[in-house]
Amino acid sequence: MKRYSAFALVREALNDHKGWTRAWKDAQPKDRYDVIIVGAGGHGLATAYYLGKRFGITNVAVLDKGWLGGGNTGRNTTIIRSNYLQDPSAAIYEKSRALYEGLSQDLNYNLMFSPRGVLMLAQTQHEVRGYQRTAHANRLQGVETEFVGPEKVKQLVPIIELNGPRYPVLGGLWQARGGTARHDAVAWGYARACSDMGMDIIQNCEVTAVRSDGGQVTGVETTRGAISCEKLGIVVAGHSGVLAEKAGFRLPVESVALQALVSEPIKPCMDIVVMANTVHGYMSQSDKGEMVIGGGADGFNNYTQRGSFQHIEETVRALIETFPMISRLKMLRQWGGIVDMTGDRSPILSKTPLGNCFINCGWGTGGFKAIPGSGWGFAELMAKGLAPLCEAFSLDRFPEGRFIDESVAAGVAH
Ligand SMILES: Cc1cc2nc3c(=O)[nH]c(=O)nc-3n(C[C@H](O)[C@H](O)[C@H](O)COP(=O)(O)OP(=O)(O)OC[C@H]3O[C@@H](n4cnc5c(N)ncnc54)[C@H](O)[C@@H]3O)c2cc1C
Repeated sequence: MKRYSAFALVREALNDHKGWTRAWKDAQPKDRYDVIIVGAGGHGLATAYYLGKRFGITNVAVLDKGWLGGGNTGRNTTIIRSNYLQDPSAAIYEKSRALYEGLSQDLNYNLMFSPRGVLMLAQTQHEVRGYQRTAHANRLQGVETEFVGPEKVKQLVPIIELNGPRYPVLGGLWQARGGTARHDAVAWGYARACSDMGMDIIQNCEVTAVRSDGGQVTGVETTRGAISCEKLGIVVAGHSGVLAEKAGFRLPVESVALQALVSEPIKPCMDIVVMANTVHGYMSQSDKGEMVIGGGADGFNNYTQRGSFQHIEETVRALIETFPMISRLKMLRQWGGIVDMTGDRSPILSKTPLGNCFINCGWGTGGFKAIPGSGWGFAELMAKGLAPLCEAFSLDRFPEGRFIDESVAAGVAH
């Protein structure tokens, strides 16, 4: 792999950019791999990367029915934070946030990680108490957050209206080291590093069936032929239920569309991420100047990648009352992704009823922030059969009633 650097950029500029090589090779499926990962989103690619980097397992294929990063990884609003309430959640999300800090250097790929700070507004007394509780829990967990009052909120976000028509801003949960990253770059960076380790990333390759014998997976059938493997990782977000059914087991997840939109680009006006869960809308400004706006999840199960229209209106209404100055902005684009929701709003990183088949799903509306940490832990689970970071997130927690309730932290917003 040719390293990216300022020196390489200058050299190529002088050479009409003729010397750049492909970021990852266009691989053709082989007959057999040690490990197959289904799903070339951030979580699948990060898993493959850490399998190679931490455990030396490189005979790996990552299969995707579309293009890599074309699922939710390339459709989210890129918010990164780790201010969750429960200990296992704080551990995995904080590990992830910390990995993001050095990931551009690790992957030699500019992920545009921007730790600009994330503020979650408290607009009811209930929210004030909830966020104060989270701030205390975070302190015990070693996650740096603080509850701030309305004056500090106004100082952080001068364009905010503290006395909105429906709810006043009473304060907020502030995580100064939270932020954003370029979502496609996260997928591309991991893909390039995996390809460099000799792994095959195979796009346009849909898994249509899972082959098994005596309770063990033997391989998969795909639109590009059958492929055998020693271990299988299913990392397909909104399609997890579909794939699990093909493998012969059921998952406690529901798939719904979650949507987002961006405005036309404007001059810099807001340099942090703000989330307003009571009125439900959240917003940040991209480097291009667009206001990136997160909307709601559909209230019914579906597999569309658009989302229902009424959410656009609800989201825009919520944001205009919070930031009146955006009322005359034009919407540039709107889109949706299919998210996989569990009952306790926490992910599943687990073994399955098939001995050598593992599942990583249930990230729902908030898995972008977790990509590095999830890949780190899930790779360990696949390589060693046990991973401290993943232990609490096993499938067993549902029949055993060990829920990791993060519905406040992750139910509607991110
Ligand atoms: C609108 C929106 C906003 C969001 N905002 C945020 C946010 O601000 N912060 C945050 O942390 N999270 C956010 N999320 C959630 C986050 O995007 C997801 O949790 C995360 O990207 C999931 O990554 P993944 O790798 O598991 O799945 P994906 O990126 O969806 O990848 C799964 C891949 O599996 C492939 N696949 C499916 N079925 C098959 C098959 N049969 N064979 C082969 N391949 C298959 C798909 O093509 C896809 O590429 C948001 C999501 C959406 C939709």
